[in-house]
Amino acid sequence: MYKNLINGEWVGSTNAAQNINPSDTSDIIGEYATAGVAQTIDAIAAATAAFPSWSRGPIQARADLLERIGNEILLRKDEIGILLAREEGKILSEAVGEALRAAQIFKFYAQEVLRFGGQLGPSVRPGVNVEVTREALGVIGIITPWNYPIAIPAWKIAPALAYGNCVVFKPAELVPGCGWLLADIIKRAGVPDGVFNLVMGSGSVVGQTLLDHKEVSAITFTGSVATGQRVAQACIERMAKFQLEMGSKNPLLILADADLDNAVKCAINGAFFSTGQRCTATSRIIVEKPIEAAFIEALTRAMGELTVGDARAPGTDMGPVVDQRQLDQDLRYIDLGASEGATLASGGQRVQREQQGFYLAPTLLTNCANDMRIAREEIFGPVACVMTADDYEHGLHLANDSEFGLCAGICTGSLKHAAHFKRNAQTGMVMVNLPTAGVDYHVPFGGRKASSYGAREQGKNAEEFFTTVKTSYVFADLPG
Ligand code: ADP
Repeated sequence: MYKNLINGEWVGSTNAAQNINPSDTSDIIGEYATAGVAQTIDAIAAATAAFPSWSRGPIQARADLLERIGNEILLRKDEIGILLAREEGKILSEAVGEALRAAQIFKFYAQEVLRFGGQLGPSVRPGVNVEVTREALGVIGIITPWNYPIAIPAWKIAPALAYGNCVVFKPAELVPGCGWLLADIIKRAGVPDGVFNLVMGSGSVVGQTLLDHKEVSAITFTGSVATGQRVAQACIERMAKFQLEMGSKNPLLILADADLDNAVKCAINGAFFSTGQRCTATSRIIVEKPIEAAFIEALTRAMGELTVGDARAPGTDMGPVVDQRQLDQDLRYIDLGASEGATLASGGQRVQREQQGFYLAPTLLTNCANDMRIAREEIFGPVACVMTADDYEHGLHLANDSEFGLCAGICTGSLKHAAHFKRNAQTGMVMVNLPTAGVDYHVPFGGRKASSYGAREQGKNAEEFFTTVKTSYVFADLPG
């Protein structure tokens, strides 16, 4: 049994969960301990006890630790990629890329530890100086989703530790494997006992305990809107700091002057890579009328060339959906699309392979209207809707007419429209002639409206969430 890491010890549990390969449901990856309330409280207590010395300890030790973690992930990226593809179902090249990304994130924050911060300046009062500094928050509860099992934990754990916090990390139930492996790497890199703890288990038990515990200073969460709202309510109740990354319904606007080949590539990548299971996935493709027919024809042709299959098999372009529940949800939305009046232009059906897996064909619904539920609610699968724009202004209006606001893309040859879109898209991120998914790790990540809440993640921006500001006034009216 893979155990939880609490106060530097691997701790077993009477309960365990099976980790199942979505490409082949007869393949059991392992048994992972399921923590209860008591173990979660032990982990919080260990992190609380470790905080004073970790937050005030030498920054060189923190930088070295993060560098060692990053180096080991880098060295083992292929092995981690295989595990990731096996438990989550994204294809091997994407999985290895995600492992590489996790390594880069740790190495980035290893440097960030040493970046000198703070401000010193005169007060408006004579003889007084003012210092503005940043301090660690305390214990951070980290709650992550299943779709990026190593990169999302990395982009929360690395800055949390870099800025001097202690961590209790709860990975998603479906992907404990990468969470456990990351914990093992962090422990073997020499993290002091209690500074980093892993508690695998359910959201309603482990997650909820983190939300409600008074010693947890802050919660960083990525997941669904419904759970995000619970996180917000619980944190507000006890005035804990929180940060939420949730769903989206990202638009890709394709204007008549776009390079058609590139537009098709952007749509294929954005809508179907990683089986569409990305919060930045393209789910609304808005096409200007004159090229709509040509675009749909080229897109469906390209979709027909995608090989759906085992995530680890060479030649696979799109792996399975993550589990039965998600597959049922995708199929329900495809049926709903038909009943709302959309046309099923491609896909829509399960795909049979030799082994039992949650395979779904990449699916395109055309003749969609922006007020249909399929165009408003996050499906989180390889399903995209196409709708028509009369012109650029109409396309921009459709793009912004959403409860969500994570990322918006535009394909165009027009600098004027690209510049206007960049300024007027009501999202946290904008892509010009690029897929909506695929972001860098050294710059802020996040959205607006129902997509995100609180400080942005990643890059230097992460310090906003993982630290608190202190303003000190010093009177030293010394003669001379
Ligand atoms: P998804 O539908 O993508 O699985 P969820 O929001 O259900 O998204 O899950 C994201 C993370 O939130 C998971 O780690 C899950 O265990 C956790 N979670 C679910 N319910 C709660 C809760 N009540 N309190 C805290 N965390 C929760």
